[in-house]
Amino acid sequence: MNAASRSRRTSPRAGARPCPCGLPAAYGECCGRFHAGQAAPTAEALMRSRFAAFAVEDEAYLLRTWHPTTRPARVGFERGMRWTGLEIEDVSGGSPFHTDGTVTFRARYAHGGQPGELHERSRFTRHEGAWVYLDAVFTN
Ligand SMILES: [Zn+2]
Repeated sequence: MNAASRSRRTSPRAGARPCPCGLPAAYGECCGRFHAGQAAPTAEALMRSRFAAFAVEDEAYLLRTWHPTTRPARVGFERGMRWTGLEIEDVSGGSPFHTDGTVTFRARYAHGGQPGELHERSRFTRHEGAWVYLDAVFTN
C-alpha cells in the first residue's frame, strides 16, 4: 500500500463511519479497535474483524490473525473488489472459554460492479492465547 492510500484510509473521521462488518456501530468502536491492537474476545468477533479488515484492506491485521501454519506470505487485495455485507449464519464454540470454534457466514461483495457472495465455514483456534483464523471449508 502506498503512502497516499494509507493517509486517505486513516483520516480523522475514519473511526466514526459505520463498521463494514454490519454491526450497528462505528468502525472505531467495533472492528477498528481490534485492528488497532485489542484482542478479539470470540471467534465471531475475530471473523467480523477480519471481514472488516478485507473491506479496509488492512493486510497487517489479516496476517497477524492468521495461524502461522496456514498463513500466506501476503494478502492480495483484488482491484475492483468491494466487500458490501456480512451475515453470520452459525457459530459453534469460539467463546472466551473455548480453544476452537467455527463460524459459518455469507460475505457479499461487488467485483467490477457485479454482485457476488461467498458462503463459507471458517475454523478458528487459539495461538499464544489469541483467536486466529485457521482455515476454511467452502460450502458452495
Ligand atoms: Zn465491526
